[in-house]
Amino acid sequence: MTHQTFSISDIGRALRVPADGLVVPPTGLLLDRLARPLTDLRISVTDRCNFRCSYCMPKEVFDKDYRYLPHGSLLSFEEITRLARIFTGHGVRKIRLTGGEPLLRKNLERLVEQLAALRDIDGRPLDLTLTTNASLLARKAVSLKSAGLQRVTVSLDGLDDAVFRRMNDVDFPVSEVLAGIEAAQAAGLGPVKVNMVVKRGTNDQEILPMARHFRGTGVVLRFIEYMDVGATNGWRMDEVLPSSEVIERIAREFPLRPLEASTPGETAQRWAYEDGAGEIGVISSVTQAFCHDCSRARLSTEGKLYLCLFASMGHDLRPLLRGDAEDAQISSLLADIWQGRGDRYSELRALRLPDAGPGPDAPAPRRVEMSYIGG
Ligand code: SAM
Ligand code: SF4
Ligand code: SF4
Repeated sequence: MTHQTFSISDIGRALRVPADGLVVPPTGLLLDRLARPLTDLRISVTDRCNFRCSYCMPKEVFDKDYRYLPHGSLLSFEEITRLARIFTGHGVRKIRLTGGEPLLRKNLERLVEQLAALRDIDGRPLDLTLTTNASLLARKAVSLKSAGLQRVTVSLDGLDDAVFRRMNDVDFPVSEVLAGIEAAQAAGLGPVKVNMVVKRGTNDQEILPMARHFRGTGVVLRFIEYMDVGATNGWRMDEVLPSSEVIERIAREFPLRPLEASTPGETAQRWAYEDGAGEIGVISSVTQAFCHDCSRARLSTEGKLYLCLFASMGHDLRPLLRGDAEDAQISSLLADIWQGRGDRYSELRALRLPDAGPGPDAPAPRRVEMSYIGG
């Protein structure tokens, strides 16, 4: 477990937010009700995707009649950048572009350029990254790097072509994802991370082949527990393979030792191969919730702010952007929203407290979809 540490000046900055709600923007550091800072912003740039991963956008729901957001409701790049700049005033240092499939958004490089010009509260460039299914990455890696993107995370759920084609459900081959990863490495978008969502009985036999393939390549492979996010994937607890089992399986072939978290609030627990062939990570959102460290806010494609991946309601910022609100007003509102945050869905689910909502095996309420809110 990692803990956030604050310097005296950090605390001083946080205290500049008076209790009467009249915020002096920018605060530099905002703490929510559980003393978690706001350091990480995930921005969904589209709710569309060219894959139909069964755990995220099952074909039966996301079919040809599915109504995606109309173009006019999407935030423009200028609106996104304006918000992102205001967020940096409250301590955001890291921005991840996501979706849907972010590389489907036209001219995304222009947004990357605008975001790359922003600075954090200490005047440093932001940590600017993107999560992608890599279907368009080989084509776009160089232009994304030139625009100022620093790193990419690629999703890949197995090396066996038949397994992967079944999971993406659009018959997309593994070879093109691997080509995207290579292009990203060659363009300097590293260290590349590869996310594998593990579903017991569907792709867990791919854990070892994936580990063997990426060891020693500089790619950081991360195994994600299949989550009960959204309301359409038919999630069942018996399809979750606990990360502890992933580690056990890999360690039998390649001894591992735990590593310290590199940054506070990091979602992955890191492990190093004892023989020096690099590291892997596990993201145990179901079996070992990490809400106590969650410093992430999520901005949907149409400008709603969500404080938790499992939220069903967002705060609509678009009317402010399209009305005549000044930066300071938006900044105050963001401060207010974050300071009121008490979300810790995964921890409550694990504890099965009365207000935890359903336990892992109960039916899910209508929550927003991952493809809309951004992973
Ligand atoms: N389309 C891009 C991609 O797949 O990389 C970005 C968006 S996707 C929603 C972001 C991440 O969420 C991916 O790594 C994906 O595997 C993960 N994800 C989606 N649904 C999930 C689920 N039910 N449980 C765990 N991870 C999930
Ligand atoms: Fe698309 Fe990513 Fe969801 Fe798969 S996980 S359907 S690639 S948004
Ligand atoms: Fe953060 Fe919500 Fe996930 Fe907990 S459940 S780690 S609060 S996004």
